[in-house]
Amino acid sequence: MATGTASTRTDRAKTVRELLAAGKRSYSFEFFAPKTEKGERTLWNALRRLEAVGPTFVSVTYGAGGSSREGTVRNTERIAAETTLTPVAHLTAVNHSRAELRHVIGQYADAGIRNVLALRGDPPGDPMAEWVPHPDGVNYASELVELIKESGDFCVGVAAFPEMHPRSTDWDTDVRHFVDKCRSGADYAITQMFFYAEDYLRLRDSVHAAGCDIPIIPEIMPVTNVRQIERFARLSNAAFPPELADRILAVKDDPAAVRSVGIEYATELGGRLMAEDVPGLHFITLNHSTATLEIYQNLGLHTRS
Ligand code: FAD
Repeated sequence: MATGTASTRTDRAKTVRELLAAGKRSYSFEFFAPKTEKGERTLWNALRRLEAVGPTFVSVTYGAGGSSREGTVRNTERIAAETTLTPVAHLTAVNHSRAELRHVIGQYADAGIRNVLALRGDPPGDPMAEWVPHPDGVNYASELVELIKESGDFCVGVAAFPEMHPRSTDWDTDVRHFVDKCRSGADYAITQMFFYAEDYLRLRDSVHAAGCDIPIIPEIMPVTNVRQIERFARLSNAAFPPELADRILAVKDDPAAVRSVGIEYATELGGRLMAEDVPGLHFITLNHSTATLEIYQNLGLHTRS
């Protein structure tokens, strides 16, 4: 049962920009829209458990098509209506005309959602297949930022890549394209997952030197099983640390020990980033709460503030 209507939520919905400007470090959690009822129950169990620690915001990824996209809109609307959480809705340009993008943005606005993460997205199926824009759509995330900003009073986040976007040929060009997103009006960025704090720091320094000073929130994802070693590297193009792989493979027959190593590494990375004064930490949850809560607590972030 909804506890607030879209219009009442509009009155009190805070933007990520405002929350970051308040000066406190942001802590946020990312979820994906499930395709089944069972998946939806898992998502909502995790959301409710993580709501208890009072995150700055939560975000819901936008699927490659069909039911998962409807699920993004539905679950983000539900978070806005039924929880105390501030939702950020992801939106990608994949297979959408500008009119369709405006329609989704309108649905978010109707639900009182003011925070959107603007992404170009990847071709469905093979992320490295040739990118073909919709004939009436947008080609780059910078254009999507402009479209969302023209559509209303939205706070818009964008993606950042500490190890360079996999399609980019060189670092300087990739940084220049990131700065285009700032110039288009992006309010903040969230990074791709990564394993070395130095990669994040290099990106932050390069972007600042190029004249863009939006907050860049690092994303953290713990490795919790052996299969993820290969999967993570493939999905993110991130260099998987050999020392972490060694630590995990040394205990590969003991799932609990593998999980502990992954959580310990993610905790160390989070602590290192906090020491470097990052504006926040964004945790990928994969719709589960336990590993995220463990890292959160290890970092001493267990209470609502
Ligand atoms: P862009 O900023 O458009 O960049 C794409 C490529 O084009 C880069 O190589 C860039 O350097 C280049 N480029 C940019 N502008 C120009 C230009 N003017 N001329 C030439 N080249 C240019 N995917 C999903 O499908 N759903 C999600 O919900 C989702 N959430 C994500 C959340 C985060 C935090 C991150 C980091 C990624 C997410 N992704 C998601 C993945 C993302 O969609 C892909 O990584 C995609 O390939 C890049 O999106 P982008 O918004 O960075 O694109």
